[in-house]
Amino acid sequence: MTDKQAGILRSGGPKRTGDAIGQCGTQIFDRFDLPDIEDLASRLRFSPRTGRIWLDNNRMILMHTRALGALRRELVETLGISAARALLIRMGYASGAQDAELAVKVRGTASFTDFFLVGPQLHALEGIVNVQPVRLESDTATGHFYGEFLWHDSAEDEVHIEQFGFGSESACWMQQGYASGYTSVFVGRPVLFREVECRATGAQACRIIGKPLSEWDATDEELRYLQPQSFANRDRLIVSNRTAQAAPATVPAAAPSPEVPATPEKLLVGASAGFNMVCHMLEKVAGTNATVLLLGESGVGKELFAQTLHRISKRASGPFVAINCAAIPEHLIESELFGVEKGAFTGATESRAGRFERAHGGTLFLDEIGTLTLQAQGKLLRALQEGEVERVGDRKSRKVDVRVVAATNVNLRDCTRKGTFREDLFFRLNVFPIQIPPLRDRRADIPLLMEHFLKQFRSRHGKQVTGFTQRAINGLFAYDWPGNIRELENMIERGVILAADGEAVDLCHLFTSGEILSANVLAMSGDGLLNPCGQREAARAKETVAGAGGGDAGSLIDTLLGNGTSLDDLEEQLLQAAVERAQGNISEAARMLGITRPQLAYRLKRKIV
Ligand SMILES: [Zn+2]
Repeated sequence: MTDKQAGILRSGGPKRTGDAIGQCGTQIFDRFDLPDIEDLASRLRFSPRTGRIWLDNNRMILMHTRALGALRRELVETLGISAARALLIRMGYASGAQDAELAVKVRGTASFTDFFLVGPQLHALEGIVNVQPVRLESDTATGHFYGEFLWHDSAEDEVHIEQFGFGSESACWMQQGYASGYTSVFVGRPVLFREVECRATGAQACRIIGKPLSEWDATDEELRYLQPQSFANRDRLIVSNRTAQAAPATVPAAAPSPEVPATPEKLLVGASAGFNMVCHMLEKVAGTNATVLLLGESGVGKELFAQTLHRISKRASGPFVAINCAAIPEHLIESELFGVEKGAFTGATESRAGRFERAHGGTLFLDEIGTLTLQAQGKLLRALQEGEVERVGDRKSRKVDVRVVAATNVNLRDCTRKGTFREDLFFRLNVFPIQIPPLRDRRADIPLLMEHFLKQFRSRHGKQVTGFTQRAINGLFAYDWPGNIRELENMIERGVILAADGEAVDLCHLFTSGEILSANVLAMSGDGLLNPCGQREAARAKETVAGAGGGDAGSLIDTLLGNGTSLDDLEEQLLQAAVERAQGNISEAARMLGITRPQLAYRLKRKIV
């Protein structure tokens, strides 16, 4: 294979053209074939006078590896090797996910390879390990990923060997987590790295291999490390309880709101430190009857966390009843919550139980609790204190056994100061508050959520969308997500609907609803937002071909024959030009050439073997 031929899919050595904002390709590396690290190194700043070290905008610390060794020993001795390993993997995962964000910022518009290698280079820059890339294959549009790297002089091995000596198990746990976290965020789907050889077992260097989670066998153990709570990210844990949604209440005497089952796709999905912390809190409180207050911005998934809490609690076989207090007109809220007796007021033509009674033996989820009227707040306080409710227009108290989970996106403490929320009720609800972080603070969850929603909407809309383009992934990571997970969900649904079958969701399929984009998203989008998914590009290509086939065809053929271009050369150049013009998108290039994607893939492969 000549260098020229290799240029189609393999760009080695100093030649790093290939796929701008690249999406696919295979690269086999010569030893330490890495791009210049200056763009990353220049972001490392020491400010000894203020006691700060910065890597871009992230504060870092310099620590003695010996101290890490002592911590490692203590973790292993107190928690056992499995829990210690899990903790360190999660720590590495968080760090890798963070660095992937930096990659987007620094090399978001570079070729795929240079862009990806930010992670390995940062790992070295941070003093953790010297990474030698061996093989990197990626086709983000189809979700294909394969990465193989050698780790030389791993700091983690050094401390492990010092503390425990050589053994039979690999020991670069934090680093394994880093590689998995970095790559998952980078390619927008869960990717797991395994250390197949390790210096701690006597190998000369450590070797890691990364593939999408679904392509590995027996991942249960590693999944448990990343997602310690068994109820998260598990497809089998579907919401099977019947959930009463906050149906619009017209007249209180109307038939009870229909109780609809929650969709089976509603799963808690995440792997970030923030997500794991919330799951940990849910698990702690699930076994009790304590009132739980879920705090967080709109769209962070409070109801889903409430449903999960119900499902893992002792009340799982009882009903889960949800009500959005803000969705019920003020004058109807009391009858909705506590029920109504026939004749209590005009329109109350029959007696009806409220949500409290219907949640008997189970869980009542009160969303947007801050919007309750003061009168309803008083009744709610009584229900919580006495375990009794009184229907509107009735003097009889009814015993109810209900666990209340309340949620709000406002600061209730402020509301008590303003007098719009009863202080006694606030303290009654604030027994076990759980703060759910916004999506922008748990970006490590984005790849899992992307894959989850992609699967869900592909099947819901019967579309054969293959995945996400690299620039779509970059855009999703750089965006601020003011609407949180709900906004991500809506955006991916829109993307799946807009993308063509057999294609990947591109940036222009996503940000179509007037989102305010940061300079970051705009910078990396190239012309991806202005140029609707290459349509103009394709049209231009067609024009060129049409032109060549018209008046200029004769002279083009004369030139080619005159300069001795062989049929093979011509084909190679044409294929390469199409791939470059389609920015590495093989399907797009195939369309330009008027052949199918497999036909083009076959021809490209033939050129490089
Ligand atoms: Zn190792």
